Amino acid sequence: MTIPFLDLDPGHCLIGGRWRPCISGERIALYNPSDGSHLCEIARGRSEDVSEAVAAARTALDGPWGRMPAFERGRILQALGRLVLENADLLARLEALDVGKPLKQACADVTALARYMEFYAGAADKLTGETLPYLDGYTVYTLREPHGVTGHIVPWNYPMQIIGRSVGAALAAGNAAVLKPAEEACLTALAFAELARRAGLPDGALNVVPGLGTEAGAALSAHPGVDHISFTGSVAVGKLIQQAAAGNVVPVTLELGGKSPQLVFEDADVEAALPYLVNAGIQNAGQTCSAASRILVHCSRYDEVLTGMTDRYRALRAGPALDDHDLGPLVSMRQKEIVQGYLDQGEGLEIAARGEIVANAPAGGAYLAPVLFAGVPPEHRLAQEEIFGPVQVVIPFEDEDHALKIANGTAYGLVASVWTRSGARQMRLARKLRAGQVFLNNYGAGGGVELPFGGTGLSGHGREKGFEALMSFTRLKTIAALHG
Ligand code: NAD
Repeated sequence: MTIPFLDLDPGHCLIGGRWRPCISGERIALYNPSDGSHLCEIARGRSEDVSEAVAAARTALDGPWGRMPAFERGRILQALGRLVLENADLLARLEALDVGKPLKQACADVTALARYMEFYAGAADKLTGETLPYLDGYTVYTLREPHGVTGHIVPWNYPMQIIGRSVGAALAAGNAAVLKPAEEACLTALAFAELARRAGLPDGALNVVPGLGTEAGAALSAHPGVDHISFTGSVAVGKLIQQAAAGNVVPVTLELGGKSPQLVFEDADVEAALPYLVNAGIQNAGQTCSAASRILVHCSRYDEVLTGMTDRYRALRAGPALDDHDLGPLVSMRQKEIVQGYLDQGEGLEIAARGEIVANAPAGGAYLAPVLFAGVPPEHRLAQEEIFGPVQVVIPFEDEDHALKIANGTAYGLVASVWTRSGARQMRLARKLRAGQVFLNNYGAGGGVELPFGGTGLSGHGREKGFEALMSFTRLKTIAALHG
């Protein structure tokens, strides 16, 4: 298979502006999670390919890319955003085939990718330093400089969005990038890199080395030529990445998921809340770091919320990605087994509702009907751990203190939302909730190109998206001139 229109062999790495097989010539098979069929083969890059990619990135920094004025970097990103939109149909179909996400969601991801390019294109020449008051006879100012070579290790759940926010910000700030996409879903990363080449990105500014996490990923995170690492994925691998980065004393951004709550109070507009309560849990079949997997409800509205969610769950359908149902399959049979393992842990809990798998769903697809659990004790595993599948738990609470205790009572802290008409309560909880983003009377799972995003606790550290991400892809230099 070649990637249509782009005439691209998906079995290649992009290094120094040239597509080529990995040095060993080995490949990894990709499967379509909607039916289990073989999609294509991607390169199985290893440490030697990563070393070449890091060297190519360094060469780009020493060459035209490193010397390019910020506004010209912005123009290239702007052109790249346009190419993304011109190829929106191709990108969305690739993502749907590869990840299994319904076409409509894949289209939304393409739009987000283009928006990241536009946002960071416009921001590229607005990174400024400051002049600082100091002693008599001095002029002191700061410069924001790129880190240099940045490593980007990306998961399979939202490849386009995560590449957009991470690589887009890094390039805008003047870094060169080495991207390691996930071995389960890699095709839009390759297509994006080809579009970047066509948009005029100089050779070596963006390099892509597909491969296994334990090989290409581990090599990239430990490479002494890498100056900054950005990682999105599991907590277990996040810890390994941080250890590897410590070996070279380089900064890392870790985005490791969550167990995000939505809190529904006695004075909430439940009708307005219901679509958000359900959609934020089942979007991308629940394989979303900021999925709202816990729904906390005041006991006076508990039955009403549960009935509303139950009705919606019963109408949910999971089916082939290109048929555009509410949910696609999970990304792989392995992921389905992980989620099934959690469902088995729920034995004895009340299942309020299940969605359905459509009758014509191919037998080889990784389908799972979404499940809503009710009355779950807050300390239960299903209410504590990230399941990464279409599973939500509903938990009743007595009052505001109780709600806060439950909401903040996991090891994670990524996103939260509060449904209440009380302005004072909104302000109080916005401060007290342990989360990187708090939504008031809405929920934006992962949304908002402009909005800084990231977590606390096991959700990770560092902020992506918005201007904040751009800053984090720079380091500050202070210059003090004594002129008398
Ligand atoms: P993962 O953390 O294993 O993989 C994410 C990325 O890291 C992939 O590109 C992978 O190749 C790479 N990687 C894996 N091992 C590595 C290593 N030793 N060194 C460097 N890079 C490595 O995630 P997964 O196995 O795809 O999913 C497992 C669980 O992780 C999921 O069930 C879910 O709970 C969580 N997850 C979270 C997110 C998120 O957005 N926070 C995304 C994907 C998965």
